[in-house]
Amino acid sequence: MMQRKYSFFMIFAILSLIAAFFCPGELSASEKINCKICKKQIRPGQRYLISKNEPYCSRKCYEQILPECTVCRKRSYTGGIYALDHTFFACTECMKKPRCFSCQIPTDDATLSCSRAICKNCLRTSISNSRQAQALFNEVRDTMRLSLGIGTRHPIRFTLVDPDQLQKLSGNPSDNHLEQGLFKYEAEIEKVVTRDYLGRKKSEKTYAKNENRSIFVLDHLPKIRMEYVIAHELAHDWQAEFYPGIRDLKIKEGLAEYIAWRYNHFKKRHDLNRRIENNPDPIYGEGFRQIKRIVDKNGFAGLKKYLQFKSDSKHVIRK
Ligand SMILES: [Zn+2]
Ligand SMILES: [Zn+2]
Ligand SMILES: [Zn+2]
Ligand SMILES: [Zn+2]
Repeated sequence: MMQRKYSFFMIFAILSLIAAFFCPGELSASEKINCKICKKQIRPGQRYLISKNEPYCSRKCYEQILPECTVCRKRSYTGGIYALDHTFFACTECMKKPRCFSCQIPTDDATLSCSRAICKNCLRTSISNSRQAQALFNEVRDTMRLSLGIGTRHPIRFTLVDPDQLQKLSGNPSDNHLEQGLFKYEAEIEKVVTRDYLGRKKSEKTYAKNENRSIFVLDHLPKIRMEYVIAHELAHDWQAEFYPGIRDLKIKEGLAEYIAWRYNHFKKRHDLNRRIENNPDPIYGEGFRQIKRIVDKNGFAGLKKYLQFKSDSKHVIRK
């Protein structure tokens, strides 16, 4: 599971607000205007501010309508919003801080291994103990199997890793991605060719033996984020088991995101799902929306049919 590290911030100069100007007081004695914020009457001859047709008696009153920085709580004329889901606004000063590796909020609260920043809120439920993580993994796997009907019964090795280990395991040299989890399937593939008495090939079958399945998840993720990453990786395991022929990355990642979305939905974690729904990524976000449209139209049974169709015929027989 990857998180793209592109333009996290959309700089927005609050142009419409800056367009406010001091109005030279030309109020006639009969005109009555009250400040939008403090409600005090603006006296004739007094300079005041207009923004979006609303009057403000002073800059101090006007500043009350500026967006509040999620990080330092100061109101600011300029700043950025998190492009992925608009969950926070950061002032220009706070935008210079490193971003929490989990929620992306700018922070200087704490630093973890591999120079990762983490915010106080994420640190509160952050999991770095492998026993605790294993228990969480088992819990998520059970919930998915029993409540969502999505799961497998074979053993899966679960390991917590740091970002450097995860990058090595995934073999992804690009630092444009911030990976949080990985599903790995390894097996010995054996090809058995049957020939007739003239040595002509009659049939060819492929067998998989000594299968190994592993899931790696980034350490120090906050609990509910870790559950979501586990659910995403378990979805890959389910797909690899029942629809092994699927090669299309958009279907694979879209399906994993969709199943994780169902898990979050079951747990009533709607904030987390808003990020999945609004993810602009062409693989993860678009893939998710494509899979969800199929389910919305034809139900989960319809999705299974679609996956069966997409899983091509040259499937592998398991020994
Ligand atoms: Zn994935
Ligand atoms: Zn005022
Ligand atoms: Zn700030
Ligand atoms: Zn955070």
